This record gives sequence, C-alpha cells and structure tokens, in this order.
Amino acid sequence: MEKTLIYKILKKTFGYDDFRSKQEKIINHSLEGKDGLVIMPTGGGKSICYQIPALASEGITLVISPLIALMNDQISALRFMGVKAEALHSNLSIDESRFVYNQLKTGELKLLYMSPERINNETTQRFLSTLNISLIAIDEAHCVSVWGNDFRPDYAELSSLRTIFPNVPMMALTATADKTTQDDIITQLKLREPKTFLESFERKNITSYVEPGLKRIEKIKSILRTYNDASGIIYCLSRNDTEKVAKKLQASGYNADFYHAGLDSFERSRVQRQFQNDEIQIICATIAFGMGIDKPNIRFVIHYNMPKNIEAYYQEIGRAGRDGEPAEAILFYSWGDFIKLQRFIDEGEANPEFQKVQTAKLKRMWEYCTSSDCHTNLVLNYFGEYRSEKCGHCDNCINPPTKKDGTTQAMMALSAIKRCNERIGMETLIGVLKGSYRSEITSRGYDKIKTFGVGRNISGANWKNYIIQMINQGIISIDYATGSTLKWTPLSSEVINNKLKVNIVDFVPKTKAKKPPKLFVETEMDTNLDLFDILKSWRLDLARKKNVPAFTILANKTLKEICQVLPTNNFELLQVNGIGEVKLRQYGHEILNIIKENVK
Ligand code: ADP
Ligand code: MG
Ligand code: ZN
Repeated sequence: MEKTLIYKILKKTFGYDDFRSKQEKIINHSLEGKDGLVIMPTGGGKSICYQIPALASEGITLVISPLIALMNDQISALRFMGVKAEALHSNLSIDESRFVYNQLKTGELKLLYMSPERINNETTQRFLSTLNISLIAIDEAHCVSVWGNDFRPDYAELSSLRTIFPNVPMMALTATADKTTQDDIITQLKLREPKTFLESFERKNITSYVEPGLKRIEKIKSILRTYNDASGIIYCLSRNDTEKVAKKLQASGYNADFYHAGLDSFERSRVQRQFQNDEIQIICATIAFGMGIDKPNIRFVIHYNMPKNIEAYYQEIGRAGRDGEPAEAILFYSWGDFIKLQRFIDEGEANPEFQKVQTAKLKRMWEYCTSSDCHTNLVLNYFGEYRSEKCGHCDNCINPPTKKDGTTQAMMALSAIKRCNERIGMETLIGVLKGSYRSEITSRGYDKIKTFGVGRNISGANWKNYIIQMINQGIISIDYATGSTLKWTPLSSEVINNKLKVNIVDFVPKTKAKKPPKLFVETEMDTNLDLFDILKSWRLDLARKKNVPAFTILANKTLKEICQVLPTNNFELLQVNGIGEVKLRQYGHEILNIIKENVK
C-alpha cells in the first residue's frame, strides 16, 4: 500500500520514476513514526526524504533550515510542483507572517520551513504545539554540533523540540559529518533510537585534482579553455583575491564576476541570481558564496586556496555536478595557505577546545593535499566510510605515484596503538616506535610494551609520513573528541591478520606541477542544441517574470531530455524526468508548442 503511495507521489509531483539508493527506506522509516539520521552527500537527494513523507501524511511537516535563500528556492521549487509550502523566518513582515499563520490554522500547508531562531521562540512553539505536526526535519543538522564544520548556537537550542513534540518523528539530515559529529547530532537533538542512514559520500561523477599553487592564474586559464561556457566557481580565501582573479579572467575575455560578504546585499543577490540563471559563467568567491546555491549544472569547482578542513572542501566541491553529469574539482594548495588558516584559528574568538579541533582538522586538510593515495578514499575514511579499493576518479588513481610494501610498518604502528590502549596521539606513537625514553612515555609504562623501539631504523619524519598515509588509507583513525588519539578501524585487524596489504610511498616533495586535468567534454548526446537554447531562453523569461532561479522551474537535465526525446504530446512529455503532473499542466502546452515550431 505505502509503497504504491510514495511511488505515486514521486512520479506525480516530482516527475521521477525511481528512488535513489536509500531514499525509499528513509521515507518508509519516517512514515513508521521513527527517528532517523540521514547522511548523504550534497546533491544526493535529501530533500525528497522529508518532502515525500510530508505529502504522504496528514498534518504539517516542519523543516528547519539555516539559510533563508535556500528555503526560498526550495519553496519556489515546491510551488512549481503544486505543493503548498511556506516559510517563517526573521525577514518576513508582520503581514507576511500573519498570512502564513492563517494558512497554518486552516491546515492548508503541507510543509513549513523555519529558521532555527524562529522556532526557538516560545510563542511560536506554543502555537505550533496546537497544530498537527507529522514530521520535524532538521536540514544541515551538523550545525548543532561543535565538532561539526559550521556550529550555530541557534541550532544547539533545537534540543527543546524533543520536549515540546515528544511523539513527532524527527529526521536530521546533513552532507557533512564525521563520525564524532554524527554521534553528537543524535545526542544534541535527543533522537529516539534513531536509525542512521549513511549513504556513500562518494561522488562518482566528480574527478578531483590536487596540485601545488604555483602560477595559478595561468593554470586556471588553461583549464578554463577546456570548459567552453560551462558554469563554475573559483573559491578564494580573501575578498581581495576574488576581485583580483575575476578581473584577470575578465581581461582574458571570460564571463566572470566576484562575490564576497563585503558587497551590499543588492549586488550579492544580483550576482547569485545571474549565476543561477546561466547569465554569469564563472564566480570568483569567498566561502560566503555557496550554502544557498542549489544550481544543478555547475561543472567545475576550483579552489584557488586550500580550504580550512575536509568538511568544507567536500561540501564546496559537492556543489559541482548535482545533476549527476561529469564535473571536476581542482584544488591548489600552498604552505602559505596553511599558515594563514592556522592564524585565523589562533586569532579567532573561539574557545580553546574548539580551536584545538579546528587545528587538527586543518592538519588533515594538509595531509589530504600532500597525500599520494586515493584522494576520494581519504575523504570517505575521514567521514567514517572505511574503504580500501581505489576510486578511479581522482588524480592519484588516474596517475599513481610509485609505491612500496609497507605492511610491516603498518603492523608495527597498529600493534603499538593497541598496546597503548588506543590512547596515544601521533607524536607519542612515533616516540614509542622509535624507542624514546621521554617522560610521557616512561611514566605511562609504554617503554615496557613489546613494540617499544621496533621502528628505530626509520626516521621520525618518515614515520610521520607513513602514519599519515595509514590514516589516509583508513587503517588508523583519529578521534578528535579525545585529544586526537589514534584508534583502530575495521580495516586494522585485516592488516594485522595479513589479509590486507598496505602500500606506502617515501616522502617526495611535490614541487613540480602536475599536468593539467583532462579535457572536459560535455556528455555527448544527440541533443538538438538550437532547441535547447530556445527552451533555455523561454525558461529565463519565465524565471525573471516570477523572480525565481531558472532551475526551480525546470532543470537543464530535463530540458536536455526534452530535446532528445522531442515529445509530441502530453503523454510523452510526462515520461521525461522532472515533469510531474502540475508542471505538465502549467507548461506542457507551451513546451509542446515550442517543439512544434522549432523542429521539423
Ligand atoms: P541534497 O539536499 O542532498 O543536496 P537535493 O535534495 O537538493 O540534494 O537533490 C539534488 C537533485 O537531485 C535535485 O535536483 C533533485 O530533484 C534530484 N533528485 C532527488 N531525488 C531524485 C530521484 N529519485 N530521481 C531523480 N532525481 C532526483
Ligand atoms: Mg539539501
Ligand atoms: Zn582515487
């Protein structure tokens, strides 16, 4: 019964035929009234996981989201599908709020998006508790945790929701949470026996490249030549750099602009809107640009500087290729970036505990940059998805450095970690392996264990390099919550039992620039490009009239499919992915007319 209902909604409202991997399980779990934690990469399709239960249930689904821009785009998209959705946040006038409240009272709304500060208000909560709430979805849930990448005090207060709505199922969703953060989300939000749905973080359509930041502008220009007019973001650390890079690209004839928090809000929304509507091709931006961007056809994300941690990096590159088509991530790093980021942390106002975590995370980012192992696996292992087979879509897989067998070294390190009860950090481990009689080692009796001194023939620098590689390979993990101590992972016992071989490389300074990323080729397909352009400009007119981003009306992917299939009637048009019944009713006639007029 349930199965057919949620499939019907998927087709009728969203225009899709099949659920992606875990969506159906997550939806059914929620419909059974149970709590869940959904960890799925950006672009994985989290929204449907709470939007379909909202439509399949009586009552209202509350969605907590940190960004007004993001809420507004989601609501526009929902309205185009014929779903009743509204938002309550601090940017609404009294009249606008009253309008929403009235719709809530009459029970017309299916989804209510709220900012955390709005739902933390007692009067609002009292009002909400009189309504029939069927589900509470907390998007970007990593914001509740100080271990996460973007802690927000407003989010931490959401724990009160469990008290006010003891029986309403909750769903926490995030694209960025390491193991520590995942556990903390469950604790902070007081989820009841939640099931965790961990979707692989791998984004198979993104090819990632990492290289030293030398002659970056020249390299970027040569990379851009391979992209034609595809959309992309270039992230810079400073506002100055965003302007500098944009101006250099403009001077070379590129359609580029810049974005940072120092611009006035009018300028910011102009740049954002034009980028979303494909009117600006390249945005040079600080990280202020992004969270509100759901644009599906971003083909590349370039990091002009190293990001502050792996969560931030992965979230930023995750904005590329949301439509599932090939995309590239290119990261430039330098020791200067590392120093600068370290200074930001040291000079920040955050408490010492938080600073320590941020510093450890910055180091892992550095390790990522300097790693010669599969870059994708490093990220996956970081997020607790331990895996050793190669991804095949990162630079180190495509162009592997020379390796040697390091199984013996790995066994030494793992055995020392275990014999020290998984309570030591990197420096102590190296001390133990090298047989150091430092007081921190002797006072805890680590000089008495069997592995003490077994690695004295290897230099400390090389041990560090090896251990970093082992962490990168998921054989050892770091627990930031307990002073960055080293722990075993599920792969560790495989190594000790001789079931998994470990490869390592000796440290070689990466001074020489690697060759530029492979040519970007638009996915070849039999698309009528003229028709595609005509449909795009029809959509742009509509988007301007309605003052919404173009992709909330119809995605590029949907337009492309229309150009391939060339539907001649409503029935054929409905088969296209992304066309549901409401969109068919609203635009079907116009689309079919455009096809008729432009295709013989
Ligand atoms: P997330 O919030 O996880 O970053 P979204 O919910 O915004 O991702 O979804 C990303 C894109 O994938 C959207 O364009 C969405 O419509 C599309 N999508 C989600 N689920 C499906 C599905 N089952 N079939 C086809 N497209 C889907
Ligand atoms: Mg989302
Ligand atoms: Zn790889």
